[in-house]
Amino acid sequence: MIDLHMHSTNSDGTKTVKEILEIAEKTGLNVISITDHECCDGYDELKNIDVSKYYSGKIIKGIELKGQHKDLVMDILGYGFDCDKMKAGVAECYKDMSRAQIQESQLAELYRIGNDMGLVLRPINELVWDRAKEWGSIVFYDEMISHAENKGKIADDIWISFQHFKAHYRHKGDSFYIDRAQNYPSVTKIVEAIHNAGGKAFIAHIFEYKEIEDKIKELEEMVSKYDIDGIECYYSNFTEEEHEAVLEFAKDHNLLISGGSDFHGEKKPGIYIGIGKGNLNIPDSILDNWSD
Ligand SMILES: [Zn+2]
Ligand SMILES: [Zn+2]
Repeated sequence: MIDLHMHSTNSDGTKTVKEILEIAEKTGLNVISITDHECCDGYDELKNIDVSKYYSGKIIKGIELKGQHKDLVMDILGYGFDCDKMKAGVAECYKDMSRAQIQESQLAELYRIGNDMGLVLRPINELVWDRAKEWGSIVFYDEMISHAENKGKIADDIWISFQHFKAHYRHKGDSFYIDRAQNYPSVTKIVEAIHNAGGKAFIAHIFEYKEIEDKIKELEEMVSKYDIDGIECYYSNFTEEEHEAVLEFAKDHNLLISGGSDFHGEKKPGIYIGIGKGNLNIPDSILDNWSD
């Protein structure tokens, strides 16, 4: 069993790299990859600790990068790269607007909408948050729902969870819709950065994008447009049918297969390393043809 998609405290996860290694060991994972958003800091951390004390399996270097594809923001996973080259590539991709600046602008945009709607919100400059690791959208959400006065001013389902709010600000025509894609580097650039660092590029969790009507058609478009190496076919939230559909797609298109839990610790409760929601079981054999 393996897990190639998880987040540490170096991005938006709540467990440290060391804690992740310990859980991976206990879970009996043979191969893991820590795929923090837009950073390889976890691998610098690993250099300074005796990994074998915590984990006996193999570690593949990983990263998750957001890129613009049409008017969508898509997550691309990179694997097996050289860290220094990857860092340089990430810096180049985000040179016009850093990750922190993108998150800041999204928060500002949502604030503008919220103020127009007459929502009760603290002044934006009073919010304390880490722009390099957190998401502007989540910071806004937490602020919005912390004021009971906003009840009745926004759609009822938004109160259920951030996931519900996501469907609103990503849906064109919704009063919360924000054009997030414009500030991100293109998927072409992201894939190029991964390849220049000697890595392989995978399209992550396609069924997570509720704003995409026909997911398989979008995959089709993306693999013909970009130099994609593989598809994430095993994922905590995928149904059996979704899993089968992407697996078939990857096989039909001769693409590599990856899979992971997208573990974030307490930030995504109910999702565990290796086993996802309990029934994830990613076979080691998907790695058989990764090395060319
Ligand atoms: Zn994350
Ligand atoms: Zn992720």
